[in-house]
Amino acid sequence: MAKKAARKAARRATAVRPQVRSLATRPAVKRAAKATTTTKAGKAGKYVYQFGKTTDGNGTMKPLLGGKGANLAEMCRIGLPVPPGFTITTEVCTYYYDHKRSYPPALKAQMQAGVAALEKQTKKKFGDLKDPLLVSVRSGARDSMPGMMDTILNLGLNDQTVEALAKKTGNPRFAWDCYRRFVQMYGDVVLGVQKRPDEDHEPFETVIEALKHERHHEGIEDTKLSVDDLKELVVRFKALVKERAGKAFPVSPWDQLMGAVGAVFGSWMNDRAIVYRRKYNIPSEWGTAVNVQAMVYGNTGDASGSGVAFTRNPANGTKEFYGEFLINAQGEDVVAGVRTPEPVAELKKQMPKAYAELERIRQRLEKHFKDVQDFEFTIEEGVVYMLQTRNGKRTAMAALKFSMDMCKERLIDWKTAVMRNPADQLEQLLAPVFDASEVAKAKAIATGLPAGPGAASGQIYLNADRAVTAAEKGQQVLLVRVETSPEDLRGMIAAEGILTARGGVSSHAALVARQMGKVCVCGAAAVEVDYQARKVTVDGQAFNEGDWMSIDGTAGKVYAGKVKTAPSEIVAALIEGDDAAKKTEKFKSFQQLMKWCDQATRMSVRTNADTPEQTQNAIAFGAVGIGLCRTEHMFFEGDRIDAMREMILAETLEDRKAALAKLLPFQREDFAGIFRALKGYPATIRFLDPPLHEFLPNSPESQADLAKKLGVAPSAIHSRVEQLHEFNPMLGFRGCRLGIGYPEISAMQARAVFEAAAIVQKEGIKVKPEIMIPLVGFKKELDLQLEVVHQAARDVQAERKVKLDYLVGTMIEVPRGALTADEIAQSADFFSFGTNDLTQTALGMSRDDSGSFLPNYTELEIVKKNPFATIDQTGVGQLVEVAVSKGRATKPGLKIGICGEHGGDPASIHFFEKVGLDYVSCSPYRVPVARLAAAQAALAK
Ligand code: ADP
Ligand code: MG
Ligand code: MG
Repeated sequence: MAKKAARKAARRATAVRPQVRSLATRPAVKRAAKATTTTKAGKAGKYVYQFGKTTDGNGTMKPLLGGKGANLAEMCRIGLPVPPGFTITTEVCTYYYDHKRSYPPALKAQMQAGVAALEKQTKKKFGDLKDPLLVSVRSGARDSMPGMMDTILNLGLNDQTVEALAKKTGNPRFAWDCYRRFVQMYGDVVLGVQKRPDEDHEPFETVIEALKHERHHEGIEDTKLSVDDLKELVVRFKALVKERAGKAFPVSPWDQLMGAVGAVFGSWMNDRAIVYRRKYNIPSEWGTAVNVQAMVYGNTGDASGSGVAFTRNPANGTKEFYGEFLINAQGEDVVAGVRTPEPVAELKKQMPKAYAELERIRQRLEKHFKDVQDFEFTIEEGVVYMLQTRNGKRTAMAALKFSMDMCKERLIDWKTAVMRNPADQLEQLLAPVFDASEVAKAKAIATGLPAGPGAASGQIYLNADRAVTAAEKGQQVLLVRVETSPEDLRGMIAAEGILTARGGVSSHAALVARQMGKVCVCGAAAVEVDYQARKVTVDGQAFNEGDWMSIDGTAGKVYAGKVKTAPSEIVAALIEGDDAAKKTEKFKSFQQLMKWCDQATRMSVRTNADTPEQTQNAIAFGAVGIGLCRTEHMFFEGDRIDAMREMILAETLEDRKAALAKLLPFQREDFAGIFRALKGYPATIRFLDPPLHEFLPNSPESQADLAKKLGVAPSAIHSRVEQLHEFNPMLGFRGCRLGIGYPEISAMQARAVFEAAAIVQKEGIKVKPEIMIPLVGFKKELDLQLEVVHQAARDVQAERKVKLDYLVGTMIEVPRGALTADEIAQSADFFSFGTNDLTQTALGMSRDDSGSFLPNYTELEIVKKNPFATIDQTGVGQLVEVAVSKGRATKPGLKIGICGEHGGDPASIHFFEKVGLDYVSCSPYRVPVARLAAAQAALAK
């Protein structure tokens, strides 16, 4: 029973999702759809595109025909065996939501012509009493949205046509199997007969189970049900529909068809689709297309079946035919995990001819689409039909291998190879793997399919809600399920890894893991999951929720407890200089990719680093300098903080200078270490930026502690802390305002930089300091700080008898700075956008407080993406563009970079390429991602 319920859930999650507001309460979405709607559809007037003997569309028409429809057309064009059909365009979906869920008047006639064309090609008739044409009704948006929309099969059956089908095929079992599937799917998807909140199981499944119980034993498979059983099921299903939906099941095939089309369009706005679109930033305006296609039958008996396959292995990239199939089944069974499918290689034995045909198709697909394809097929009495193809989702590891191999095979060129590696997935390659020595010691307690590579340890949870709650509390979570369904999506997002007991390589869990880059082992049959008791048993060993387990998604192994992880081969090779790691294919491919990136890129990539170690790591990853060194981080270490506090608490200039003198040697040493690590690359060093109170102790105990150390009264500390209190510290006494208020601080920092530069330069290493004054909004602010810096430079050069090569520039991070960039550029040697503060000040939004309202803003689509993660191009982006053009109007060739959080975000990097920045800067482990994104942005131009 649980299995059945899960299958149903996989096809269509029906649970109420309290955290997602229902369609009725989503006026904003509807408005959004409306706002961008035009009457394009009306202008074009063509709503239906045929594929088959004549094919109107092609693979480039995804916006209009959806991904599925466009590729069905393309497959027809290259002569692959596709059952004929037609696609209703996405414009009709837009029209539908624009016109109170109604259709353009011309649609019906075009659909009738479409059906007529199908009748002609199949020599069957829709609703015919001799040889009825049955169709599938399938959704298909521009981008594939797995599991989100609902497909209806075997449409066109009623009490008369089912008899005709039985007679025509001489296979009543098959005919009635189709009919009961149809009533069940249609009842669920179109008529809304679904699990109620107080029910444990899908109502249709409850009916099936009851019948099995009455007539057989409960464990029997669906394929063993007799014609009589199936007939009885149809009767009971229809009674159920009548009771629940309050109306009779539609008899007329055309009524059925129009209802199904409406359901597909309706599902575009169901909660699951909305959640998915939000996660992947798919605009709701795109809409879905509907595909109506003549049925082919995988359920006629043992010479038939259905399957899904990849032209290469999408988990690890190996060039092998990869996939699975089920004998005597319709397509939905394969992905839903009712029965565990067999690997496609088995087909070679069971149906050699069909296998050979599939091999031929596999080659043809790759040769034509020049990318790895994920395709769905059905075999009807030994004959292969293609039902779908699309570019296969892949792990980062597979993407890397595909791109390298296909380039070697001359299917693609090196530039395409670069584009084939999704920048935001690249970090997966740097993720840890299990420590080899630890794995040797650990005993694998179960084995499953390696569906998402990498290593993950976590405390187990058996349900999505509890997994999310645990993750919110900061736990490392492993989601363990019999199988997953779209209902589990949030839990999967929250988890480090996913383990399922059932399901193959095309199961929901595998699909989602591949896409999100989650570590995943699926189909580990030895794992027994008891949802009721919240317990997992493996090989007699029990694990309760909260217990630790580990999974290796590269090898497909499950371990008890917490297994230690080791760095990925790439990290081992680059950061640790591990020779064995350097010989691995993964590392070599990564290096090749990075080499290509350097060939393609225009912008360079620097790093945000405050220590020599971070700097070394970043350089190993390919950074060519520091874009942001935050000097204040250096003030927290060890007993430096005491000197810093002493400086802040000083009442006189003298006292302050005395405290600063204690800090100077620390800063000098730090800078010298960084300059050495840089080996001649430039370092942008930002002067003290945060408000001073951040350095002071807050609790009475720590204030008393400090008082003792400094030999002052605790009340003195307390009152200075009070004095420094600000209502809006983010907009308060910080940035260059500090250096202007206390020039001696800037003087000390400048001296530390130049003395370190002099020391390291004398060691024979080139040094290029770039001093950066933060938070400048007025040219005069910069000018005042420039005086201090240049004075220090003159002094140090004279004292140490050296000539130093340095620049002084500013951060552009308040709107006034951006708007007056022409003036500021008169004094600045360079600009660097501090896009964190620029976003805060431009939007008037405090990043640290945005958690209370931003999620709602994303939900309502006021902002499409978190503006602190991906730059708000339309708003903040304008300030960037203005500053670039004004700055360079004053100083052509002015060097400009960006050092905010956005410097490591691929979408933002594309924008920075467009506006012509010279470099981006990001954290050390993001450097490869930024290099790839920068190369792709350059290639995309
Ligand atoms: P999804 O978008 O969820 O993959 P599809 O529209 O691809 O949904 O349909 C799911 C499965 O239904 C297909 O993989 C295929 O096996 C089956 N199917 C769809 N249309 C037909 C058809 N015309 N004949 C036979 N099977 C079909
Ligand atoms: Mg579907
Ligand atoms: Mg499909």
